[in-house]
Amino acid sequence: MQRKIPVVIVGGGPVGLSMAILLQRFGVEFVLLERSATTTDHPKARGTYTRTMEIFRQWGIDGLMKRHALPDGSDFFSFCESMTGHEWGRTNPEPNIGHSPCWKIIQSQDTVESELLDHARKSSVGKVLFGHEFLHFDEGANSITVTSRQVATGEGTTWQAQYVIAADGATSAVRRQAGIEMRGPSTLAVMALTACGGEVATTTGSTRSITSRCRFSRSSSSRSGCISRPLCSTRWPMKSTARCRS
Ligand SMILES: Cc1cc2nc3c(=O)[nH]c(=O)nc-3n(C[C@H](O)[C@H](O)[C@H](O)COP(=O)(O)OP(=O)(O)OC[C@H]3O[C@@H](n4cnc5c(N)ncnc54)[C@H](O)[C@@H]3O)c2cc1C
Repeated sequence: MQRKIPVVIVGGGPVGLSMAILLQRFGVEFVLLERSATTTDHPKARGTYTRTMEIFRQWGIDGLMKRHALPDGSDFFSFCESMTGHEWGRTNPEPNIGHSPCWKIIQSQDTVESELLDHARKSSVGKVLFGHEFLHFDEGANSITVTSRQVATGEGTTWQAQYVIAADGATSAVRRQAGIEMRGPSTLAVMALTACGGEVATTTGSTRSITSRCRFSRSSSSRSGCISRPLCSTRWPMKSTARCRS
């Protein structure tokens, strides 16, 4: 199948979905290709900073994002023996000095993505296609030919576009095909993040962030640690640094 479209966005993470919203605001037609079946169900990043909140405010979605946030002042870590054990100390939350009408929030990435997607889908300009994988592009004199395939069926589509936007993450295939090098080390740290469910706030009596030490049997010589910050009163991710560049 062959289709004409001004812009192809590859990747439906926070960057691709934001790009979709921006193009809609300017009335530019696009197709967004995301190979996963849905937005992420993993919490990933957990903070939306002031500048991003200012942009969300322009788009009228800052209030929607705040529904998923922890209470203001939750941006601190406490250093504890264990989740319910002795607390040695804690950091101070960053003070809101009123330099912006928006303030950062502690919110997990899965909720950011689902709100961005809902907003993107409200407009009829552009299509968001999940389960569609970008394969390659060829740059011609007047257009770019982008090939994709539907993951479930293997059916291929060719898009004739003016622009391709590489929003396909750190290991971007679009970037590599365009011959754009990544500067610096390809791996800064190897981390594991486990999302846990349960009434942790009831157990600990608070929604504090917890930093405690843990050990990795395969990395005795490298730094290790375990950081946990609640996503809400019932969801906790545990982030472990298994290996760092020193
Ligand atoms: C476990 C974990 C914890 C993190 N914690 C933090 C944190 O605490 N703070 C923080 O600031 N950041 C954190 N990050 C980083 C943050 O998640 C990323 O910076 C952010 O997701 C980057 O957004 P993006 O849209 O550029 O890329 P991504 O979110 O990676 O999105 C790229 C999208 O492109 C899609 N894609 C890739 N290749 C193709 C293809 N060929 N065809 C179609 N689609 C494709 C992928 O499926 C993906 O959905 C964390 C990341 C992980 C994995």
